[in-house]
Amino acid sequence: MDRHLRRVTPHVVRRQAIRRKTRQCHSHFYSRCAHWSFHAEAPLAALGWTRERWILGGGAFLLALLTLLGIPAWASVIQHDTVVKSVTRETLALQLPPAPKEALRPVVAAWKVVEVQPGETLSEIFQAQGLSGTDLAAVMASGKDTGALKTLHPGDQVEFLTDAKGQLQGFRYEPDSATQVTLTTQADGSMRAQVAALPVERRMHFAHGEVQGSLFAAGEKAGLSETMVLKLADVFKYDIDFIKDLQKGDRFTVVYDDIYRNGKYSGGGNIIAAEFVNNGHHYTAYRFKEPDGSVAYFSQDGRPLRKGLLRTPVAFTRISSSFGMRHHPILGYNRLHKGVDYAAPTGTPIHAAGDGVITFRGRSHGYGNFITIRNTSKYTTAYGHMSRFASGLHVGSHVTQGEVIGYVGQTGMATGPHLHYEVRVNGQPENPLTVTMPKPEPLSTKLMADFRAQTAPMVARIQMIDNATQRLARVSDDRASVAATN
Ligand SMILES: [Zn+2]
Repeated sequence: MDRHLRRVTPHVVRRQAIRRKTRQCHSHFYSRCAHWSFHAEAPLAALGWTRERWILGGGAFLLALLTLLGIPAWASVIQHDTVVKSVTRETLALQLPPAPKEALRPVVAAWKVVEVQPGETLSEIFQAQGLSGTDLAAVMASGKDTGALKTLHPGDQVEFLTDAKGQLQGFRYEPDSATQVTLTTQADGSMRAQVAALPVERRMHFAHGEVQGSLFAAGEKAGLSETMVLKLADVFKYDIDFIKDLQKGDRFTVVYDDIYRNGKYSGGGNIIAAEFVNNGHHYTAYRFKEPDGSVAYFSQDGRPLRKGLLRTPVAFTRISSSFGMRHHPILGYNRLHKGVDYAAPTGTPIHAAGDGVITFRGRSHGYGNFITIRNTSKYTTAYGHMSRFASGLHVGSHVTQGEVIGYVGQTGMATGPHLHYEVRVNGQPENPLTVTMPKPEPLSTKLMADFRAQTAPMVARIQMIDNATQRLARVSDDRASVAATN
């Protein structure tokens, strides 16, 4: 008892008092939480969100939050630690790009390269460079090669050289993939042209195809570009009407070249030789450079493919009045219609029917805006009712076959827009549709020898390819017929 009492020290008493106090303080809380028991008989009183539950809920939320934040942090720490331990460090010399040399470059006038944007005209390009119409006129007047500037394509490049005041000093362009023209401003304001051949490589190709649908489809199948198909059609345009005459089964063999600059494809070159079999007729074309530098296509026997005169000098047209006696729609009486009328929308380009010299250009009574061209000593062609003339042409100008000389209109005595086209032989009007056109002159005996020597290997190649493909076609035909009879 004494021992027992002795053990009841003030320290123990105080501890017991604290315990009692604690129990009293939390009895309220414990009783409230009694229903959280797993025992079935626990009371299930509906309770509101009181302070205790806010505390418990908050605590649980905080624990979850710490877990979510803490685990990845620890994970990364652990991972980083292991990676670092497994990697051995090494110092490498870093290759830096060379520093820009802009600052070292001396200040000199530099050519500015301008790329043609879709729909942009040359005059707009000049305006954008702060240059005037006078500059453009000087460029266009500088030489014959400026024709290429009238047909610029998006992506083509032209170069400008201007002085400190912005005055045009030079202009540079490439009329084709193999030529560069540099124009320099002279003291009198005109521009002088220097033509340079660009260092190019020409790679020769062969293509052979058979027409099943369109010429373009056949060309594509044979590996020809669209431009090369157009060139092929252009070569044979005097003999074959590719809209009306083309037949299924027509075939072609082409030798052409592509131009490469610095090893990169730069554009299609020329058709060097070609054969076209249209409806069973063989047509051949060989490119030949004459001693005067002019280039033309000749058939295998040395006849130029280019015909004397075009019978229809407008595209996309119908004949609205033919040659001969007729009741004149405006004059009201019968008289000879000296030409053929081709109805076409106002503004349709009119082409020179053949090479020649302009002998009249201006207003002429019933003809309205009128041009006559002397094509040969015997043949003259005439073009009436034009809405306007092509710029840069005057009496004495030399025109080439197919060149645009004006545009369809209805000036003079005309009831609607059309081209009145005449062919005069020794001054007498003849029916353009039936008149015998001047025969192209064959190559002279001396040139013929050069031509034969130059084209002989091509002729052999083309015949070999065509024969081989024909043999293949016959073999497959035989097989097909054998299969059909079985
Ligand atoms: Zn007429």
